[in-house]
Amino acid sequence: MTLRIYILYLLGVVNILGLILPLAKLSRAENYQANCPTPGLERFLLHRVSHGENLETIAQIYNIKSETIVAMNPELQNTKLTIGSNILIPPYNGIVIEVSQGQTWRELGTQYQVRPDVLFELNGCQSPDNLAFIPVVNGKRYTPDIAKSSSQTDTDLTNPAIQAGNFPLQNPAKIALPYGWQMNPMDKEVFFHSGIDFFADKGSNVQAIAPGVVVLAQEKGSYGNLIIINHSERLQSRYAHLENINVKKGQQVKTGELLGTVGTTGKPNFPQPHLHFEVRARSSLGWIAKDPQTYLQK
Ligand SMILES: [Zn+2]
Repeated sequence: MTLRIYILYLLGVVNILGLILPLAKLSRAENYQANCPTPGLERFLLHRVSHGENLETIAQIYNIKSETIVAMNPELQNTKLTIGSNILIPPYNGIVIEVSQGQTWRELGTQYQVRPDVLFELNGCQSPDNLAFIPVVNGKRYTPDIAKSSSQTDTDLTNPAIQAGNFPLQNPAKIALPYGWQMNPMDKEVFFHSGIDFFADKGSNVQAIAPGVVVLAQEKGSYGNLIIINHSERLQSRYAHLENINVKKGQQVKTGELLGTVGTTGKPNFPQPHLHFEVRARSSLGWIAKDPQTYLQK
């Protein structure tokens, strides 16, 4: 849910190349200032992967770096390009970030080394909303980090902090919504699902998938009642929409320890009770959502 980029498809409008499905806009973009350039977040395209293409050739078509494509499509860190799949293409090299409440363009400009007036213009000439597009002018700000975070995938898997096979619920559960780009059956909006939703009865126990420290245990916006556990320097798991929270911030937990119970708090993507579960890996861009399936299987 973190990269909650909602996109509306502009049906029927196809690029001359026939490769691109232009997107209308991201839904956060509503009433931008009249003489402001089209915000970066509204200028994303979907590229349908065809036979013989790879990240490099696609990056060349759009004159961006392949690292940018991976940053916008985090599932590509773990999986190869699939022919026929759609990947998100930003208008230029950059990243989409989540803005904390009250953050200003000046603060974000300092953090990302971009002029605040540039950020203001590229983001609809208004105060920061929950998501912002941060351009990367020469690539040096983030490219090495992205490269590092994608090459870390393999070592993450062998990290003993999360033992493969551990599960956030007591019983096996059906996947209601997988990780990655998904279309919400309720409102037909495409969005990036940063975790896996497991069907589970309301009130069923949610348990820690590995030992760690609780770093957050409280209500948090659309996540509802949320528990975040840091397992090591670089891995984190998140359990959202909980009914009850049974642990406190700062508490050490063991594998299988009761954290809370399944609920419907926050803004779940669909009304049936489920556990929204995430695994994140630390990078200098923040905590990047990984496909939890990779950590739960084997
Ligand atoms: Zn979810």
